[in-house]
Order: sequence, then C-alpha cells, then structure tokens
Amino acid sequence: MARVHNWQLGREMSYWYPASRPKRQFAAVFDVNKCIACQTCTLACKTTWTSAPGQEYMLWNNVETKPYGFYPLGWDVKALELLGPQRWRGPMYEGRTLFEAAPKGERVLGWRPAQRDYAHPNVGEDDCTGAIEGGAHIQTPHMVWFYYLARICNHCTFPACLAACPRGSIYKRPEDGIVLVDQSRCRGYQECVRACPYKKVFFNPMTGTSAKCIACYPKIETGIQPQCFENCIGKIRLAGWLSHPDHAQEDNPIDYLVHVRRLALPLFPQFGLEPNIYYIPPVHVPRPYLVQMFGPGVDAAVQAYRAAHKDPDLAGLLGLFGSTHRAISRWQRQANMISGIGTHGAEVVRVPLREPIVIRDAFDSTYGVQRTNTP
Ligand code: SF4
Ligand code: SF4
Ligand code: SF4
Repeated sequence: MARVHNWQLGREMSYWYPASRPKRQFAAVFDVNKCIACQTCTLACKTTWTSAPGQEYMLWNNVETKPYGFYPLGWDVKALELLGPQRWRGPMYEGRTLFEAAPKGERVLGWRPAQRDYAHPNVGEDDCTGAIEGGAHIQTPHMVWFYYLARICNHCTFPACLAACPRGSIYKRPEDGIVLVDQSRCRGYQECVRACPYKKVFFNPMTGTSAKCIACYPKIETGIQPQCFENCIGKIRLAGWLSHPDHAQEDNPIDYLVHVRRLALPLFPQFGLEPNIYYIPPVHVPRPYLVQMFGPGVDAAVQAYRAAHKDPDLAGLLGLFGSTHRAISRWQRQANMISGIGTHGAEVVRVPLREPIVIRDAFDSTYGVQRTNTP
C-alpha cells in the first residue's frame, strides 16, 4: 500500500498504487436541482455504446430517484453499511475509506451485486419520503421530498476498480484521467465490479469481460462533450477539466464551481476514491441526508446556490450549462454576456445573463393566422 493525498478528505490515505495524477483530469458538474429524470441521457448512452449482445442490462449512465431508487439495487446503502459509521471533523474525514477498511488479503472493501439486483433500474421512481401525517395530506411547510440523481463513472483519481484488478487490465489515461478497461487483457474475474462502490463497472456474460463508461473519449478528444451531456434535456451538465486545488484557475468553469465557489461536491467522498463527477446538491433535501451523500460542504453549497440569482458571475456560469455541444475549457463574463471558450482556445458559445422576454402578437400577419399558442 502507498500513501497518497486525497484533497476531498483533507488528509493522506492508503491506496494500492502511488499517486499518479494525469496531465489534466476529465471532470464534470451536474446540477441536481435541474434534472427532470427524462432519461434522455440514459438512452443517449445506451444507443451509442451498449446495444451489443450481453450488454442488455448495462446502463453506463443511469438516473435514479433518491432516496428509494437504486441501480443496481441498494448500491449506496450496502457500501455505507459495509463501511460502518463515518466521522468528519470540519473538512477532514476521520473515518476509514474503502481501501483502509479492506479485509486482510483484499484490496478494497466491496460486494458484488447479484443478477437480479440489476433487474429494476427504475425502482422507487418518484417515491417520496418524509412525514405525511394523516394519509396523503401534504403539510405546509412539508418535509416530503425526493430528487433525481444522474450517475456515470466518476473517472476517479484513485479508482477502486483499477486497484482491485489482479490482471492490471484497468488503466487511467495520463493525458485526461479517463479510466478504461483493456478488453484484450480482461479475463472477467469481476474484481472491479465488486470493488467499485458506485457499481459503474459491468460484466458482459457474452464476451466474458467487464466494461464501463468511457467518458465518450472519441468525442472528448475532438473537443465535444459526451453523448449523455450533449443530449441532456434539463441542461444540468457541464463537462471540462479539473485542476488540483493548489492550481485552481478562476477562468476554468469546473475549477470555479468546485474549488473557488465550492458549489459542486463529490459523491460519497468518504469512500476515498476522489471521484471527478461533482454535484450541486438539491436545496430542498434534509441536511443529514445531503451530508452523508456529498460530505460536509453541503451547507455552503446550498447557501451559495440559493443566492446565485444575485451573483452575476455564478448565475452567468450556470447559464452555460447545456448551451453548447462543445467542451468548455475557460469562461468569462463581460457585462451581461457570458462566453465559453473551447478546448482549442476559440469562443464556442455566448449566452446572455438574462434571457430577453419576447411577447408575440396573437395574430400572425405574415401568414394571416391566429396563433394558437398565445392567449
Ligand atoms: S437528460 Fe438530463 S434532465 Fe434528463 S434525466 Fe438525464 S440528466 Fe436528467
Ligand atoms: S466510479 Fe467505479 S468504475 Fe468508475 S473509475 Fe471510479 S471505481 Fe472505477
Ligand atoms: S460519458 Fe459517454 S460512455 Fe459515459 S455514460 Fe455518458 S454517454 Fe455513456
């Protein structure tokens, strides 16, 4: 075991290999408050990458309703149960990670789902939790809540799948940090499936190998956002590159949201993998649930998000989400216009801070017809 520094935990931890950070790290921010669970992202990935025999049950991208939705069944509660009680002291994690809690002779504390655990990817859809006293009557103010959690592979800095593979078949690309399975080396031991706490590696019984989200690297390499980003109806996603916090750049949109404003948080940072998909937490969900899922930064993140409409920089940057199919490396605000600059250094999109309101006449004089979509 090596000692590595995990900045999400605020401390060093044990990992199977020495730290080897890529030249730049593929990363993304998902605004949970905007997801409508339309599953367009799920289908965009499915129809692009997983339509071959043996991939029928695979959803490299999935969207589940929290708190009762899971894919596969119970993926997060089982990992939390295995890990036991966790403790944060301020921004520092004092509990054990999945690597540190691994039983003797194993590299990661994990579990392997059964086939039937993948059978109902939409289990718990729109089921809400909270106090509904007296039947279906909703109190005001009420505590009835649910939200949609969109998930892909986190292309972790310290991937559990990579650490657990006895064949060395999983690798993290040095140029962009994308984690891939080498199909020619894989022998289907499924140690990666067992190790990944997010359950984002899948076994293909037809090929006898494991497969996972590839961050749509053929698109990323040409400066275009992945399929599940480009097709997101709710415009909740922004792909880009994340720096180490010591080298955060204000004009890098992902750095700005994660490091500078601390609006976007990692998913279950206590697992210890330093995941690179970041979430703007849902503002209506009880704090203890959010802290367990996104760590101790939730109060500041929720507060900043609630105040974003008064902050032209933050509001402007949030307006860039879903505004272009191109990946945005840098951004800038000039008065009321926000620009996104692509991976090749040219402006790829420009959006206004506030969308202008256009009121159309009910009568369309060009065609001489009454519009039916106006009063
Ligand atoms: S396409 Fe976007 S809005 Fe629709 S479910 Fe996926 S993440 Fe949510
Ligand atoms: S989310 Fe899972 S599959 Fe993806 S890199 Fe991390 S450990 Fe590996
Ligand atoms: S990034 Fe690409 S491969 Fe990964 S889940 Fe999205 S569409 Fe699928």
